[in-house]
Amino acid sequence: MNCHNCHQKFSSGYIDPAGFYCSTACADTHAHHLNRFYDKLLSEGLTDLPDEVELFDLERFTLRIAVHCYNHELARNGPPMLARKPEIFSLIVMEQLLKHVPAMYFRAWRNPEPFNSDYSFRLTAPLPRELVIAAAQKAGILQAPPRTSSKKAST
Ligand SMILES: [Zn+2]
Repeated sequence: MNCHNCHQKFSSGYIDPAGFYCSTACADTHAHHLNRFYDKLLSEGLTDLPDEVELFDLERFTLRIAVHCYNHELARNGPPMLARKPEIFSLIVMEQLLKHVPAMYFRAWRNPEPFNSDYSFRLTAPLPRELVIAAAQKAGILQAPPRTSSKKAST
């Protein structure tokens, strides 16, 4: 098996909820990098997306939402620390989001492996930014902007 941090092969090592490591030092290093990445995601706006959304952007978008949720909503009353895995929560966010994306934009199939997400998918075309935002709002992942905001400008 390969270390989740340094990618070296090892036969006996260290397991934590994020993966398998050849040593506790590698586990600590990986946790440190992961926390810095989470901090970076927290500094980004929830709807920061390019006009044409590729798979990488979509995965970053759902992970960012998961990290924001854990940071703001669930930190005090959420699941126990060990169950707070933004990467896993982001898969649920992705699943909810894709229910509101037209099927012409992606292909999905059921995962045969038991230790993986239920579904895998790939995009067949880049998604327009507005479509992703609208899908997230329909799924209840993002709040829709107040309807009166455009009228306020004219009064
Ligand atoms: Zn290692």
